[in-house]
Amino acid sequence: MIIVMKPGAPEREVGAVLRQVETLGGRGHLSNGQKTAIIRVAGDDLRLDPSAFLALRGVERVIPVLHPFRLASREVQPKDTIVRVDGISIGGGTFTVMAGPCAVESLEQTLEAARRVKKAGAQLLRGGAYKPRTSPYSFQGLGPKGLEILSRAKAETGLAIVTEVMSAEDVSLVAEHADILQVGARNMQNFNLLDACGRQKRPVLLKRGLMSTVEELLLSAEYILSRGNRQVILCERGVRTFEKYTRNTLDISTVPVVKKLSHLPIIVDPSHAAGVRDYVASLALASVAVGADGMMVEVHPHPEKALCDGQESLSPDEFDRLMRDVRPIARAVGKRMAR
Ligand code: PEP
Ligand code: MN
Repeated sequence: MIIVMKPGAPEREVGAVLRQVETLGGRGHLSNGQKTAIIRVAGDDLRLDPSAFLALRGVERVIPVLHPFRLASREVQPKDTIVRVDGISIGGGTFTVMAGPCAVESLEQTLEAARRVKKAGAQLLRGGAYKPRTSPYSFQGLGPKGLEILSRAKAETGLAIVTEVMSAEDVSLVAEHADILQVGARNMQNFNLLDACGRQKRPVLLKRGLMSTVEELLLSAEYILSRGNRQVILCERGVRTFEKYTRNTLDISTVPVVKKLSHLPIIVDPSHAAGVRDYVASLALASVAVGADGMMVEVHPHPEKALCDGQESLSPDEFDRLMRDVRPIARAVGKRMAR
């Protein structure tokens, strides 16, 4: 990092900064300009907290040189991470499809959704047993019973399961039923949950928070990676903006930005971004074109009867059509459809 002193900062203030650098394990190289002193700090940038210098008298600015995330960065790992689960690859030139209802509502509903999304070409079944709902009066999910239903759907269809875990205490139970643990947008900065997900073996699908920057998303991924789990998939699902015709604004630029900064695979969830069924397919196709490694789409056998997010869920027939349209675009951008 680079520490810029205030113009005319006295020598004793510069000296105090240099001593602080050494106390914290770095090495400071002073360069005196006509009015302004600059200190180039060598050492472990990640462990040198800018606020430890900003608080000192005479310091004007602290400029980090490296990204604040390390394990997630392409600088540290130039090669794409490919997450492998249950014979499926996510990342590295494959386009992988996760689809299913917002929530697991019953065995029949889940099986019907599973059969149809499998037939259409999806590799993973999505569906929440634990649902983070804005209102405490809304359907909260079936909990452990929902997990059992997902396991039965897997046994019948062979689809791998991706499902949300909302608290650190539930991680081991959910991991018994899920092939991929989903951390939802509202929990992107639940650091205890990230920690617990980082200390177990299942891959993690980490969704971008409603109001989070890409840097914050990558720092949340860094929590999981730094606890030992290197199987992290990122998911752009729209962020909150002033626009009201959609539920969120799909930040499509996140995909190329993440591809540049990180080796981790990134998929797009057009359903929660749009919040309106009519726009889901267009956003899904845009996601393929922009280079996403996959998509997660809400599909309900009877959207009009859904207990959760029916307004944005595709019917199985609509999902069939979407999958037909996805294939030529994936080919055009050099992606293989996962099998
Ligand atoms: C979900 O995928 O079921 C969900 C709740 O999405 P998000 O966390 O992105 O709102
Ligand atoms: Mn939903």
